[in-house]
Amino acid sequence: MRSKSFFDVHNHIENYGEYKDIPALFKSNINKDTGVLMMAMDTPTYLEAAKIEEKVHGAVAAFGIHPWRAHLYHDKTDEFEAHVRRAKIVGEIGMCAKWAPKESSPFQRELFRFQLELAKKYGRPVSVHTVGTEKECLEILRAADLKNVCIHWFHGTVEQAKKYLDLGCYFSLGPDVGFSPEADELARFLPRERILLETDGAECFSWARECKKSPWQFEPAAIKDVYYQAARVRNEDFDTLALAVWENFFDFTLI
Ligand SMILES: [Zn+2]
Repeated sequence: MRSKSFFDVHNHIENYGEYKDIPALFKSNINKDTGVLMMAMDTPTYLEAAKIEEKVHGAVAAFGIHPWRAHLYHDKTDEFEAHVRRAKIVGEIGMCAKWAPKESSPFQRELFRFQLELAKKYGRPVSVHTVGTEKECLEILRAADLKNVCIHWFHGTVEQAKKYLDLGCYFSLGPDVGFSPEADELARFLPRERILLETDGAECFSWARECKKSPWQFEPAAIKDVYYQAARVRNEDFDTLALAVWENFFDFTLI
């Protein structure tokens, strides 16, 4: 991974849609310098990502049960440990009070805690969804006491972000940076040494920017535009930010 210059630390392969042949996507020159962490929604998406990981240098599979799927997996936790042992990253995990199906709510907290315990046991970094549950997730993470935590596409306030920074968390800024006053405020507030960047997959990319889907958004190299926007919003030199994110990536992932 050290040969890569840009990292999308939170992507979803199921969002590749018509671009099903993902290994081929990585063969083009514009993607050669880009690494991607492929987040899982559940076990099948992890297993598919793990197959891609074997074929593609720079694509790394994460295992985790997304809070939206908590009700479907709360009684299948026995199978998690083998996957966490094999995966280099744990994600996407966390809690969600905004977009999750209602039936997932009673199971989210326990499933999140359980997955954090496994991440700690195997020393895995985690990518955490906190939307609408920023206070609760902060307390759970504080109690879990993990070293490598990335808060994915944070929707809370700057005051709340400060508390996560105090815990030592990284933040992956999403594709709305440069297109949303709240995202821009967070991008300007965060210290450079805690910034990571993500697209959250092509579907979210076009959704966040309220723009039409376009083939280039499906390229792994689409993350470069998030780098560009983050540097612009922070009034920072692109290369300076890119180098810092490069260092942050290795500190966060340990890979
Ligand atoms: Zn996600």
